[in-house]
Amino acid sequence: MITIEEARDIVRSKIRKLGTEEVRLGVCVGRVLAEDVKADLDLPPFDRSQMDGYAVISTDTSEAPVTLDLIGESAAGRGWDGVLERGQTVKTMTGARVPKGADAVQQIELAEANGSSVTILESAKAGKNIVKTGAEIREGEIVIPAGERITRAMVASLAAFGYSSVKAARSPRLAILSTGSEIVDVSEKPGPDQIRNSNSAMLSAFASDLADVSVLPIAPDDPEGLRTSISKALDQCDFLVISGGVSVGDYDFTKPVLKDLGAEIHFEKIALKPGKPTVFATSKDKCVFGLPGNPVSIAVTFLVFVRTALLLAQGASDPELRSGFAEVTHDIKGAKGRHGLLPVKTGFREDGRMIVESLKFSGSSNFVTFASADAIASVPADSGLRKGDTAEVYFF
Ligand code: AMP
Ligand code: MG
Repeated sequence: MITIEEARDIVRSKIRKLGTEEVRLGVCVGRVLAEDVKADLDLPPFDRSQMDGYAVISTDTSEAPVTLDLIGESAAGRGWDGVLERGQTVKTMTGARVPKGADAVQQIELAEANGSSVTILESAKAGKNIVKTGAEIREGEIVIPAGERITRAMVASLAAFGYSSVKAARSPRLAILSTGSEIVDVSEKPGPDQIRNSNSAMLSAFASDLADVSVLPIAPDDPEGLRTSISKALDQCDFLVISGGVSVGDYDFTKPVLKDLGAEIHFEKIALKPGKPTVFATSKDKCVFGLPGNPVSIAVTFLVFVRTALLLAQGASDPELRSGFAEVTHDIKGAKGRHGLLPVKTGFREDGRMIVESLKFSGSSNFVTFASADAIASVPADSGLRKGDTAEVYFF
């Protein structure tokens, strides 16, 4: 048995980076940038007014109220081109260019217009309501570095700097293959010895924003059929995730078939609960994960191993789940000799501190309980966690 960290190191060492491609702005969220996104102009491109108001020379207003000559208007998209002189003001709208010579904008509510003059009712300090040229970012500066995964929050920046498409890592082609003679399609009513294929659907959902996913037909527990399914899958993917058949039962054929196909198995037993019999193999430049079929094991091992691998292949600078610390509200038993990665539900105490509610799992087959989970808690082997302890949690 190897540790979780050893297993993760092995996976990291085998990942090769995929190529790059241009991705349209409208569909780029979730993709990993393969180029630095740079500002192609100063932002703002001119001294910009933050308010509807009157551009003034601030020292003109120090003895406010003061009446100034209204000599023009600066609107968004149609700035005023002259130079403001003492005793003058220009009506200036939100987002418009502040006229040369002015150093403040007094908002409309603090002024009274009467024809060709305006009384400024309160003094305005230098800089008031003005965002200086380049205050947000300067032309040529990096807005988002290569290796970042594009979030929805980044889209406005991409658009504002002219990226109608971005250079991103190619999306990994991920094939999902569920095995098991008892597994039937979601649309079927299971017979007495059958269960519906929940793993393919869950894996597909977890992977949908990380890869180009294809779900393959269910493979029964028969070495010949499985061999054909795996070998076909390997022809058309970069990553293959196989659900089930990795333990030591009489009908667990995933490992022997992988070996038979010439795949190199790098590990097959991790000191982890759930997920001990997780298999990682490579076949030429393809990565294969054999995940234990219980739904909770599938979720944990996907999130901890496969997700990271898919992001590393795309050159992501931060391929891990976001983590934090939370207080445990119940004792959580440790597994003997195995580190626990236990799905939990996080929440907040009245004082704002994050807490972990341990869910009542009857076993790692318990997908109904798993439905409430939003994070995975790290549970030390043997000793476990006591009520009041602080646990590291990984959010998904
Ligand atoms: P295995 O890893 O093949 O020994 O499967 C372990 C448990 O997970 C068994 O109870 C299976 O019935 C269940 N299981 C395996 N594959 C799936 C699947 N695709 N969807 C739901 N449950 C599954
Ligand atoms: Mg099975």
